[in-house]
Amino acid sequence: MKFETEGGAAQDGPLPSILCRRDDEHVTRVPVRGANRGPKTAAIIPAAGRGRRMGADKMLLPLGGIPVVVRTLRIFCAAPGLAQIILVVRPEDLPRYREDILPSWNLEGITLIPGGAERWQSVAAGLAAVADGVTLVAVHDGARPLLPPGLLSRSLEVGAALGAVVLGMPAVDTVKEVGGGVVLSTPNRRGLWLIQTPQVFAVDLLRAAYAQVGEGAKSTDDASLVERLGAKVHLLEGSPENLKITSPLDLRLAEAILDFRAGGGKGKRAKLRVGFGYDIHRLAVGRPLWLGGVHLPGEVGLVGHSDADVVLHALMDALLGAVGEPDIGHFFPPDDERFLGASSAGLLAQVAQNLAAKGATLLNADLTVVAERPRLAPHSGEIKEKIARILGCAPEQIGFKATTNEGLGALGRTEGIAAWAVAMVELRES
Ligand code: MG
Repeated sequence: MKFETEGGAAQDGPLPSILCRRDDEHVTRVPVRGANRGPKTAAIIPAAGRGRRMGADKMLLPLGGIPVVVRTLRIFCAAPGLAQIILVVRPEDLPRYREDILPSWNLEGITLIPGGAERWQSVAAGLAAVADGVTLVAVHDGARPLLPPGLLSRSLEVGAALGAVVLGMPAVDTVKEVGGGVVLSTPNRRGLWLIQTPQVFAVDLLRAAYAQVGEGAKSTDDASLVERLGAKVHLLEGSPENLKITSPLDLRLAEAILDFRAGGGKGKRAKLRVGFGYDIHRLAVGRPLWLGGVHLPGEVGLVGHSDADVVLHALMDALLGAVGEPDIGHFFPPDDERFLGASSAGLLAQVAQNLAAKGATLLNADLTVVAERPRLAPHSGEIKEKIARILGCAPEQIGFKATTNEGLGALGRTEGIAAWAVAMVELRES
């Protein structure tokens, strides 16, 4: 057992995070490998679209159990060297994002602002919110959740060097200009590219483009405004995986791309790993009870150095065991003051990042807790939801069962609560 020392109040504060750390109210600073080289860079993510073709808010549709816009934000949160991430949403959605979506998916330090009815209005609002000192800005559609991280870093490098770059794909189909239902012309396909995002610009250049072009001429494409200034916009070949979710079919295609990636992209057999975890904590009057990341008020709680969440401790050991890592006591020592009263949900988020860094994806976890009381079945939905959000998976991937010990032994005498967990993960082929 890792946290069996007395004292320490449980907390439900912001989750500690390795990738996205909030340094002040408006700026996301991401730890950078080595020195903080290169220009100070911001990302603007317009996500205020009406989803007319989807018939629903496409930004929040689940893609592999994770909302589209959350997937997009995670790519940028994980990118090294970004000084600021600006998310532009519909004004009426601001409270929902601020109070629910961003905190419950552990997305911290995002600059959240209201957008306009048209895309260009949202990008203009984003530009106005760019922090002082930022010299490079990447504009990326919130509805492109499968941008390969390597393409993001490459477009930032090229944008920093050349001032304006967009991702695109050479046209595969013949393109015709059409008017009144008839073909007007057939441009030579060899010179035609279909444009994606991110589009990366020197901030001053994009600001000048927006300032000099009249509102009627503003378009769905930021590069075209920069072109009108006479500036050179460079092209970088994008990826067919970087699709924009605009229809229900796109969502199915995106699911297929995720499956393709999980299979190593070459139809290789996945490497499956299983892990097992066990934990037990003593009960004591006066302690808060935390189980599965959920606070159960009015119940006798568990004793521990952290919040003593026995369910999450067993789960963490199962996850770590699946990838051959040592147990949670190695990562969060019980004699370390930093973990006094720590939220186990926050520790689980760090374990999840450890797994992601090792190329492991959770397939499912199954949990059994043995407690004479309280009755946990009514809380199982909330517990599954909470764990799924921390691990970035769907609640269906988490099993949660509670049983009593039929009055037998120490658990039966309500001296403590114990939990067992198994987890199966898939390792990416390297
Ligand atoms: Mg423990």
